Amino acid sequence: MNGNKKHVKVLVLGSGPAGLSAALYAARAELAPVVLSGIQLGGQAALTYTVENYPGFPDGVGGAKLGEFFQKQAERFGAVVEFNSANGVDLSAHPFKVKTDGTEYTADSLIISTGADPNHLNISGETELTGRGVSYCATCDGWFFKDKKVVVVGGGDSALEEALFITRYASSITIVHRREEFRAGAILQNRAKVHPKIRFILNTVLTGIKGTEKVEAVLLKNLKTSEESSLETDGVFIFIGHTPNTQIFKGQLDMDQAGYLNVDARMQTSVPGVFAAGEVADSHFRQVVTSAGMGAAAAIEATHFLEDHSG
Ligand code: NAP
Repeated sequence: MNGNKKHVKVLVLGSGPAGLSAALYAARAELAPVVLSGIQLGGQAALTYTVENYPGFPDGVGGAKLGEFFQKQAERFGAVVEFNSANGVDLSAHPFKVKTDGTEYTADSLIISTGADPNHLNISGETELTGRGVSYCATCDGWFFKDKKVVVVGGGDSALEEALFITRYASSITIVHRREEFRAGAILQNRAKVHPKIRFILNTVLTGIKGTEKVEAVLLKNLKTSEESSLETDGVFIFIGHTPNTQIFKGQLDMDQAGYLNVDARMQTSVPGVFAAGEVADSHFRQVVTSAGMGAAAAIEATHFLEDHSG
């Protein structure tokens, strides 16, 4: 083995619930998987304050703690987690090539679990004020808004769940949603609607975020009346869906219009030997438990692929 070249039987990209579950199963099949963690060790789940719907934890478990458990369990059977990210792949020939800043890997099989990133509104002030009042992660930044006023954008489970989380800190939360109906499930809707700190502005979008050093106000437009207004706020939390991390696979793997990888029922992508699991291949469920299940399935299929293609 050369200093910056490594050959592995199973290379896993991403260290969220899908990647680490895949690593656990591949490790137990004695395939000595290597996991490239990506920038966020534990994936998006690690940014969740409490995971209440992962079976086996009747009192809930911290997202970061659950990620640590996943990692520890995979490592116990021989998985190696490296803090690194893939920045290029060549899937046109076998073994597959994956490049990071320091190393070129060749892999007999590849499991892609690179997850997704939060979408941006792409309005004025958003980029400039990110980290200065604009945030995409309540668990990371909620604490900074103790006794402050906060706007939450979106009408899905994420927006309502995160708004409820921010009630721990903020003095008031205004949820701005572009429609009257919510995508969020009934339980979250009911909890948010009765919460004394939460109010709603519906049929309304943000058209800009104002502030010099930090966020001071948002500009609003009512989509029914076209009325424009301004609302003073200290923070803006944006939860309007996600975009999968599949840029480096464009042109090499089949994906849908939104960029999610196409997989069959066995987690097989359009290239035999390359599997995908978790949110990168699932825009619908996006749960820790479904991602973990997909990861396990991908590793089982990778094991079969390697058995069929050995020697
Ligand atoms: P989502 O369900 O796709 O909701 C995104 C929300 O953002 C929608 O209300 C959408 O409005 C709004 N939106 C999208 N683009 C917008 C824009 N440019 N401007 C203003 N608003 C915009 O995304 P999510 O909430 O992240 O949830 C994704 C998946 O994860 C879902 O399947 C969800 O069930 C799951 N999830 C589950 C839990 C849980 O079970 N506890 C927690 C978090 C997420 P429209 O409704 O008008 O389209």
